[in-house]
Amino acid sequence: MTDPAFTTRAEPINDAERELLLSHVRDVPDWPEPGVMFKDITPLLRDPQAFQMVTDLLARCGRSDSDESVSADLVIGIEARGFIIGAPVAHALSTGFVPVRKEGKLPAATSSMSYELEYGRATVEVHRDAFAGGERVLIVDDVLATGGTVRATVDLVRASGADVLGVAVLMELGFLNGRERLRDVPVTSLLSV
Ligand code: AMP
Repeated sequence: MTDPAFTTRAEPINDAERELLLSHVRDVPDWPEPGVMFKDITPLLRDPQAFQMVTDLLARCGRSDSDESVSADLVIGIEARGFIIGAPVAHALSTGFVPVRKEGKLPAATSSMSYELEYGRATVEVHRDAFAGGERVLIVDDVLATGGTVRATVDLVRASGADVLGVAVLMELGFLNGRERLRDVPVTSLLSV
C-alpha cells in the first residue's frame, strides 16, 4: 500500500496561478518573535481573484477525484486563519463548518487534544456535539509548519468519532517536515516554500 503522505493529490495549479498566490503572501521577518518568518495571507484575502482561487482549489480536496461529487460531510477550520479560508471552502462544497479553537474559547462542552510545542504545550478543542459519528471531515488551515496543530486536530477529530478525509492547506513550510507527522492522512498544499 502506498503511504498516503506521498499520494498527495497533485493540484492542477499552473505556474501563473502559483505566481499569483505567492505574490499575495507577504513575508514578515521576526514576527511574532525573532527568527520566525511569518507568512501573512492578508494581501491574498484582500484580492478577490487570489481569494477565490484558493477557495476553489482547496474545495477540490473535498470532492471525489473520479466524478467531482462532494465527498466531505464537514469542513473543519483551525483557529484563526483556518476559519477565514475554511468557511468559504465549506460554502463551496455545501457542507457545514466546524471550528477547532485554542483552549478556553468555545462556549459549550468540548473535547480537547494537547500537543507539544518547542516550549511548552498547547491544546485544541472542538464542541462535543460537533460530530454525530462517522462524518468525513476535511481539515483546512493556512500554513502547515511543524504539523503539530494539524496532527492534534486529526487526533481530536478521530477521537470524536469522525473520519479524516484529508488536510488541505494553502502553504507548507517544507523545511519543517510537518508532513512527516501526517503520514496517515492525505495532505494537500497549494504552495510549498
Ligand atoms: P504548526 O503546528 O507548527 O504546524 O503551526 C501551524 C499553525 O501556526 C498554523 O495555524 C499557522 O497559521 C501558524 N504558523 C506557524 N508558522 C507560521 C508561519 N511561519 N507563518 C504563518 N503562520 C504560521
